[in-house]
Amino acid sequence: MSPSPSTPEWPRVGSGIDVHAFGAPAPDATVVLAGVRIAADAPLEGHSDADVVAHAVIDALLGAAGLGDIGTRFGVDDPAMDGADSMRMLREVVTELRAAGWRPGNVDVTVVAARPRVAPHRDAMREALAIALGIAPDAVSVKATTTDGLGSIGRAEGIAAWAVALVVGGERPGPVVAAE
Ligand SMILES: [Zn+2]
Repeated sequence: MSPSPSTPEWPRVGSGIDVHAFGAPAPDATVVLAGVRIAADAPLEGHSDADVVAHAVIDALLGAAGLGDIGTRFGVDDPAMDGADSMRMLREVVTELRAAGWRPGNVDVTVVAARPRVAPHRDAMREALAIALGIAPDAVSVKATTTDGLGSIGRAEGIAAWAVALVVGGERPGPVVAAE
């Protein structure tokens, strides 16, 4: 799949969405977003470290490269995934992409959360993602928004993340030839 030096690199785009619910409130609780640990009223529940940002980016990259999704790749119900470092999973996916002839181009993430406040941590999240993806921080965007109190996310029952990722390195698809 790797193009020859004379082959123009062809991009592909993918999208990923992830949501995790908050567990019971606890003193000293934290959530992990793009590998950045942030103080919160309650931890996020879920397999691994419940890093919704890392999971959305993983699904966007796998989707762009046509390599499946995070559930089939890592086994979401596997007890061995409890507490797993999702940024390590992201690095593994980048390695897998490169082996298939792709590399990340840019990534754009939107985090939707009523709390905790995500905006103060955006730059740290950008840098952590850029390192994991092996691209410049200016090729990573992290945006934070709320739902103005609407719905489950607005009631702070959980955090959602959307990601769009471009991967480059593939060959331009050949022309579609109509059947005679
Ligand atoms: Zn997840």
